[in-house]
Amino acid sequence: MYPFSYPSYQDCTLCPRMCHADRRISTGFCGCSAALYAARAALHMWEEPCISGSRGSGTVFFSGCTLRCCFCQNFQLSHHGLGKELSIHKLAEIFLSLQEQGAHNLNLVTPTQFLPHILEALALARPRLTIPVVYNCGGYERLETIHALKGYVDIYLPDLKYFSTSLSEKYSQAPDYFQAASEAILQMIQQIGPLVLEEGSGLMKRGVIIRHMVLPGAKEDSIQLLRWMKSSLPENGYLISLLSQYTPFYQSKTHREINRRITTYEYQKVVDEAIRLGLNQGYMQEKSSAKEEYTPSFCYEGLDD
Ligand code: SF4
Repeated sequence: MYPFSYPSYQDCTLCPRMCHADRRISTGFCGCSAALYAARAALHMWEEPCISGSRGSGTVFFSGCTLRCCFCQNFQLSHHGLGKELSIHKLAEIFLSLQEQGAHNLNLVTPTQFLPHILEALALARPRLTIPVVYNCGGYERLETIHALKGYVDIYLPDLKYFSTSLSEKYSQAPDYFQAASEAILQMIQQIGPLVLEEGSGLMKRGVIIRHMVLPGAKEDSIQLLRWMKSSLPENGYLISLLSQYTPFYQSKTHREINRRITTYEYQKVVDEAIRLGLNQGYMQEKSSAKEEYTPSFCYEGLDD
């Protein structure tokens, strides 16, 4: 039914960390065992307009993370493992419940460490699931994972966080981040094909949105990423979402250079380069949107029996 079987949790290689952890008895870098955990399932209005629409995106926030960035705004989940255990059947019910609540899509947030469970839940829900499925991830994926998602996912919403290996090592302990993410994003675009937006509403039905959040002191890294996108990705094959909302959460306080918000000048330099390159299909953020209220509260909403 799904290409990964549960033994993959016995010798876990679901993400580029390739921990080979036996998650039945311990955890890998992501902090997750073989039990499925999530912290929130609810309509969410703070995604890009073509995802949130007028009624909201049906988000499911999974616990743990394969990246665990030091500045993560959802650190209670990614670093502390906050969440509630769910069965596969319960997860399938949650997917259908979000659809019944009017969600424009089903939005799987930080899902990779639970891929086998999620694919099985999607297969259970599929006969009644009519809304697009969004894979909302950090971009740090194996090509095998993207291949496994073919036919299950309609929209990819990956981050593209760093070009520099030193930044990705320092903030996410992943010196191979750009190599993995660049290959994965190219495969996402090839798998999904042309963008499909619903006429009238502008809601995305199929496509790829690459998110990049500009970090303090790292505008040159952002510019390198934009140049790579321009030179290496198919034109019109994706939208860009350039985020200015960086807020120094969690362990970012231990890195003085990122213990602040970005300046208008930094963000504008990145936007200017995107425009200069002709990368103007997508979204740019108002600087004023760098507010903590964009982070949802995680109180197991939508997960109760
Ligand atoms: S999903 Fe977790 S345990 Fe598996 S390889 Fe990635 S970090 Fe390691």
